[in-house]
Amino acid sequence: MSVEAVILDIEGTVCPISFVKETLFPYFVAKIPELVHSNDPDVKSVLAQFPQQYQGDLGSHMQSLVANDVKDPVLKQLQGQVWAEGYTSGQIKSPLYPDVIEFMQRSSSKLYIYSSGSVQAQKLLFAYVEDPSNPTGPSLNLQPLIKGYFDINTSGKKVKSHSYERIVQDIKTAPQQVLFISDNILELKAAQEAGLQTLLAIRPGNATIPDMHGFRTVESFASLQRRNCN
Ligand SMILES: [Mg+2]
Repeated sequence: MSVEAVILDIEGTVCPISFVKETLFPYFVAKIPELVHSNDPDVKSVLAQFPQQYQGDLGSHMQSLVANDVKDPVLKQLQGQVWAEGYTSGQIKSPLYPDVIEFMQRSSSKLYIYSSGSVQAQKLLFAYVEDPSNPTGPSLNLQPLIKGYFDINTSGKKVKSHSYERIVQDIKTAPQQVLFISDNILELKAAQEAGLQTLLAIRPGNATIPDMHGFRTVESFASLQRRNCN
C-alpha cells in the first residue's frame, strides 16, 4: 500500500533516546541557574507562565520536570530557547541515524514530524544534523526536506487518537495514505485508531517491548521502499 505522507516521531525513531537524556537534558539543566536569574525579557515572560506555586523556586521546579520527563509546554519552550543557542554555537549536533538521513533525502512521500518536543526544538534538531560521513565537519540542514512539524501544543498528546485526526486534517491527506512511525506502542495505537498506517521503530537503546500488539516493525529505514515507504 502506498503512502502520500510519512509522520516521524523523533526520540527512539530517528535518533537515539540517549541523545535527549544524555545530551539535551543535561545541557538544559546546566543552564537553569542562568535562566532563573536572567534579565532577558523573552526568558522572563516564559518563566512567568509556570504556576504561581512554583514561582518561589523555579530552579527546583524545572529540575524536577526534567528529571521526571514531564511534557510541560512551558518547560519545552524554555528548552527550545536554550538548545537554540547550543545548536547555533556548534555545541550541539543531532545524531540522526544514517539510514534516516538517506531515507529523508530519497523519500517521495511528504515528510512531517510529530514529537512531544516543541516545534522550535524539532526544527533545530533537523537544522543541525551531524554528518555521518564527516562528524567533525559542518552539520547538515535537513529542514528543507520536512513539510511540517507538530507538537503537543499544535496537535495534542501523542497517545490520543484525536491528535492524529487533527494532524491529517492539517496536512489535508486521507488517514489511510499517512504512515506514522514511532517506537511507542501507545502512540501507534492512537494513530491506528485514527486510521493511519503505522510502523513500530526498533532501535538500539530503546526499551524492549514485551508485546508488539501485532504492529509491523522497522529496524532500519533502508528497508522502506523508495516509493512506497513500506
Ligand atoms: Mg519516541
